[in-house]
Amino acid sequence: MRRPVVAGNWKMHGSRRANKALLAELELQLPPQWPIDVVVFPPYVYLADAVRLLAESSLAVGAQDVCAEPDGAFTGQVGAAMLKDVGCCYVIVGHSERRRLYHEDDALVARKFAAALGAGLTPVLCLGESLAERDAHKTEAVVARQLDAVIAMNGIASFSDAILAYEPVWAIGTGRTASPDQAQAVHAFLRSRVEAQDANIARHLRVLYGGSVKGGNAAELFSMPDVDGGLVGGASLSADEFQQICAAAAVRH
Ligand code: PEP
Repeated sequence: MRRPVVAGNWKMHGSRRANKALLAELELQLPPQWPIDVVVFPPYVYLADAVRLLAESSLAVGAQDVCAEPDGAFTGQVGAAMLKDVGCCYVIVGHSERRRLYHEDDALVARKFAAALGAGLTPVLCLGESLAERDAHKTEAVVARQLDAVIAMNGIASFSDAILAYEPVWAIGTGRTASPDQAQAVHAFLRSRVEAQDANIARHLRVLYGGSVKGGNAAELFSMPDVDGGLVGGASLSADEFQQICAAAAVRH
């Protein structure tokens, strides 16, 4: 059985005071022995705080993005080794907001994935189609293209240390969730695409669903055989909601 993951992407939200309160509440609500991996992704400037606050906890910390370059004259960027240095274990690459708002293409995402792995971080690779692409029946073609770019640059073996997150763009922050069947269909497609190259890696690969996951819909989504947890945005800012989502993932285990 694959160990479920619940990942909370805080996006550009929070403050030192609010983060401290949220993490303290989460620590109280999440039993340390749960059979799931729980990760929070605060903005860069709060990463070191989060690592310190969670030092005695089973929650891990990740970053929302990473520079593709290792170091050098890249003003405003943060390198993978720096993230590792402050105690991050995970990093999101290819989030649709980065692809859409900051024009990150498949090749750049593949390089970020490589940078993360090179520094010993676990990349959470986001894939997903827009509403127009879904309506045009291009969902599989889009996620295949996004996945294949990363496989082509990094090799299939690199996926033994990575996590996939299927995030239909039309479901992110919109309150509109993919149905469990829609999510399962894409997750199964992604797994089969990896399986075509390495069955063992495909069997162990965790594929998360993201897009308006809430306490009230998580159990249904996580009951699907290829949905191994969630990448959660808005609901990760509420300890109660996030705890409910984690509880749903723990039941799956
Ligand atoms: C996300 O930020 O990756 C996300 C899925 O957001 P939300 O849960 O708010 O839709």
